[in-house]
Amino acid sequence: MKYQKLAELYEKLSSTTKRLEKIEILSSFLKDLSEKDKDVLYLLLGNIYPEYDEKKIGISNQLTIKAISKATGTQNTKIVQEWKFLGDLGKVSEKLTKNKKQVTLQSHVLTINKVLENLRKLPDLVGKGTVGKKLSLITELLTSATPLEALYLVRTLIGDLRIGLKESTIRESIVIAFFNKDKETSKIIQEAIDKSNDISAVFVIAKKGKLKDFEKISLVVGKPIKVMLAQKVSSIEDGFKALGENVGIEYKYDGFRLIIHKKEKEINLFTRRLENVTKQFPEVVAYVKEYVKGDSFILDTEAVGFDRKTKEYKPFQEVSQRIKRKYNIEELQKKLPIEINVFDIIYYNGKSQLNEPFKKRTALIKKIIKNQKYKIVSSKQIITSDLKKAEEFYKKSLEDNQEGIMMKNLDAIYQPGSRVGHMLKIKPEERDLDLVITGAEYGTGKRSGWLSSFILSCKNKDEFLEIGKVGTGITEKVESGKVTFDELTKKVKPLIIKEHGRQVTIKPKIVVTITYQEIQKSPNYSSGFALRFPRFTALRIDRNTEDITTLNEVKKDYEKQKRN
Ligand code: ATP
Repeated sequence: MKYQKLAELYEKLSSTTKRLEKIEILSSFLKDLSEKDKDVLYLLLGNIYPEYDEKKIGISNQLTIKAISKATGTQNTKIVQEWKFLGDLGKVSEKLTKNKKQVTLQSHVLTINKVLENLRKLPDLVGKGTVGKKLSLITELLTSATPLEALYLVRTLIGDLRIGLKESTIRESIVIAFFNKDKETSKIIQEAIDKSNDISAVFVIAKKGKLKDFEKISLVVGKPIKVMLAQKVSSIEDGFKALGENVGIEYKYDGFRLIIHKKEKEINLFTRRLENVTKQFPEVVAYVKEYVKGDSFILDTEAVGFDRKTKEYKPFQEVSQRIKRKYNIEELQKKLPIEINVFDIIYYNGKSQLNEPFKKRTALIKKIIKNQKYKIVSSKQIITSDLKKAEEFYKKSLEDNQEGIMMKNLDAIYQPGSRVGHMLKIKPEERDLDLVITGAEYGTGKRSGWLSSFILSCKNKDEFLEIGKVGTGITEKVESGKVTFDELTKKVKPLIIKEHGRQVTIKPKIVVTITYQEIQKSPNYSSGFALRFPRFTALRIDRNTEDITTLNEVKKDYEKQKRN
């Protein structure tokens, strides 16, 4: 097939912003597309390989400019000038090719195969002296291109096709081209895309017109797949309402998702974005070898950072650099250790687990993992329909420096790539109030000697009214970005006005930012309101008590929350 035909399709697709029109255009193109040109589907998404493949084109604007220059015999400075004017290197290339074409004859016809052949050589070229080779591969294509082809070749090179085509639009076009349009068919095809991450393979099956053939698409260990995502609810009650009784509740670990594949001896780790990060986490590979039973499996996990000395869990931001780091891996591994929390299993010893109910998958995880704290463990889980127990668990998760909880339907299947209504996340809304500390209580046990719980107040004209108590978010040991009990006690103690047992009254001076999930009416505090799940997030030395939240603002927030 000629590349010109694809370029014309791109042009048609970009001529409309309406999704339905795009689907109509694309579906009639797909009907006529022969199987041997199946890889056109990669090009439609700006890729040269299936999505699971990490090899991407990745050519810089600078190199593209050089190639346009060579192919059209135009100086770089002139190209840059045109670029500024037209705002699109593709358009520049199109214009300059047009000018050239008036004087020279086209050298030869560009085919899809030739384009793919050259483009696919690009990511394999690495290291010294490769720039020249890349340049000649691209120049060769641009020299043979028609103006329209040059436009889309350049846009493909720099990763900016501008045709407004999403994967879901291609999916719908496949449905219309080969089946009857209905929701169930779309679902089957989306599942095939999510399982295979190979749109061209899906096209080939669809072309035969038999929906049943999609069953042939199965998981392949070692090839990344898209994970299942959660929906959000704003309260545990809503979670129970949506999921019914006996819900599996887990910590929502504050880390990053890591999908672990094992096939015979080979272990691969992927991120949620399908990147292979095996090299970055050699210790995880070792943990999996040592503590997980099975010849082949795919595990869905969350990696959480912790402090080597204090063993306290760290927020995601502090370990995030490990994902990208390609050098000094060992050093970073020591500095920023992680623990793997396994919360799902997708494949085990030759068998897909996608259609097994969650409770069975959980049981399997428990069976095959030998829990090793601070290395690899099955995720903490309770099964309950009791609101109080769930709230306790939520509170504990936050105290353990995690993000919140996940509520999961125990009978649900695993749906790759979907944001499902049977796995719900609850975390404190990132709403905050600036409040002043007006009281405190001395701690006991590990926290004795410190003030460990602080009474917070808002303001009503000249009066301070209590609205809640906070102990979460303050740490025992020094941790970056966090305030310790020791620090806060030293600041608060000189402001004690009255002592009554372990409780003290504090002169209102220290302003703090408190994050909370919800405001409730409450007879226990003088403001008439209480904060649910308050968490200390910052000491506001830059603020004084004039700036704090007023009772009116609290009332407004409460009303707004009720409306939502
Ligand atoms: P968020 O920013 O809230 O993490 P997200 O878009 O990254 O959202 P969601 O699927 O919406 O991802 O939320 C759940 C995320 O929480 C998962 O992607 C996963 O990385 C993480 N997570 C932590 N603990 C668990 C757990 N026990 N079960 C499932 N996911 C968990």
